[in-house]
Amino acid sequence: MRTFLILVLVGGCLLAAAQSPSPETRKFIKVDAPVVALTHVRVIDGTGAAAREDQTIVISKGKIESVGDALSANVPKDAQLIDLHGYTVIPGLVGMHDHMFYPAGDAIFHEMAISFPRLYLAAGVTTIRTTGSIEPYMDLALRKEIDEGKEAGPRIHVTGPYLEGPNGWAPQMTELKTPEEAVATVNFWADRGVDNFKAYNFISRATLKAAIDAAHKRGLKVTGHLCSVGFREAAALGIDDLEHGIAVDTEFFSGKKPDECPVSSRASMVEVADELNKMQVSDGPIQEMIRDLVSHHVAVTSTLPVFELFVPTKTPMQQRVLDAMSETARNQFLQNRVRLDLPMRDPKTGEGRMSPWGRRFEQEKEFERAFVKAGGLLLAGEDPTGIGGDLAGFGDQREVELLVEAGFTPLEAIHIATYNGAQYLGELDRIGSIAPGRQADLVVIKGDPSKNIEDIENVETVFKDGVGYDSAKLIESVRGLVGIR
Ligand SMILES: [Zn+2]
Repeated sequence: MRTFLILVLVGGCLLAAAQSPSPETRKFIKVDAPVVALTHVRVIDGTGAAAREDQTIVISKGKIESVGDALSANVPKDAQLIDLHGYTVIPGLVGMHDHMFYPAGDAIFHEMAISFPRLYLAAGVTTIRTTGSIEPYMDLALRKEIDEGKEAGPRIHVTGPYLEGPNGWAPQMTELKTPEEAVATVNFWADRGVDNFKAYNFISRATLKAAIDAAHKRGLKVTGHLCSVGFREAAALGIDDLEHGIAVDTEFFSGKKPDECPVSSRASMVEVADELNKMQVSDGPIQEMIRDLVSHHVAVTSTLPVFELFVPTKTPMQQRVLDAMSETARNQFLQNRVRLDLPMRDPKTGEGRMSPWGRRFEQEKEFERAFVKAGGLLLAGEDPTGIGGDLAGFGDQREVELLVEAGFTPLEAIHIATYNGAQYLGELDRIGSIAPGRQADLVVIKGDPSKNIEDIENVETVFKDGVGYDSAKLIESVRGLVGIR
């Protein structure tokens, strides 16, 4: 009898065998039929092609079976029909700078192992790269729990712990003093299952080179948020991706010394920013740097939401963001916000002045457009750090809006945030676009983001591997938790 029961249960679960959701995960699932047809929906397929009206997408066993005109679509008899008049479907977002931690203040970061995976998924982010880990064992465990269906969240590409050099400002990061230490660190974490690495501000060229070579030997990619090493130097060393863009590149600063980060204090940050802000993206050296990155196939990850928060009076304050935070996190963010909106005191003269971040932000947007125009692969991330108002998932949506603010069309911005990430990860045959045979990672949005990009915030259902999650329930389940866990 017992065996029979188990057989029946196993038989019934066959379709979901790869990912049988736990009772906790089940709470967030609203569509879990073997065959689903999303009918009469607008489709933005992620390739950059124009939106197609009145389409039907058939999902079968976790994959997209067909996409076509609703009138002539071949819908299987047993399909669960979901009428999506007035809705748009886009591919699941691929978040390429999507940490699992949040700034607790005083350069300390807390792992958000409960709230962040749910917020990412709720916002339509079905794949992330963690792009620097503070708790790599936790990130690895989360990847496993999510893949097994025990937790609701995105597919995770776990980045190893930060590869930082000596005298960094974040004590949770290791300080690699020699190339040998870098090789040992890369191999140790590659053995434990991380699938990419990130170098940080104070690493030297020799140590970075050793880390890149060791990672490449294992078939793993390396990105960097660099300061001591310039973009062109990193490209020559073989780096695969650069985080944040020109806003952090110090190679054009007149006082830059090899292997040294000139931004080590608030005063030097302002000094460097003031000087670099005088440059134009059209200037010869910047154009040359862009050509260099493109010819070395180095991608750039855009993280506009974290920078936007540094621009005085710019950030739109959203109730959903404040609601997700703990009281402490909310108070800290609001205090940071007020401080930034007040006139800035010049660290040298003590006089009131404008923050350099307004100009820096505009320059970054211009750089990203020029990089794409030159044939560069631009990736979309968010970086949920900074002053604390850029949260998992919500920030990924904001990134797409800010790419449009930067001058990309909504279709181009969605292409960058979906297809380009999949291309970098080598997963174009599975994710990043809507086409037959791809995994059914789909975001159901009320409205039309091809016309009004802010509609991207109106996510109602997120399909991952053909299972539809309830966005509102995921968000509600972590209300007040950001900053705690
Ligand atoms: Zn980051």
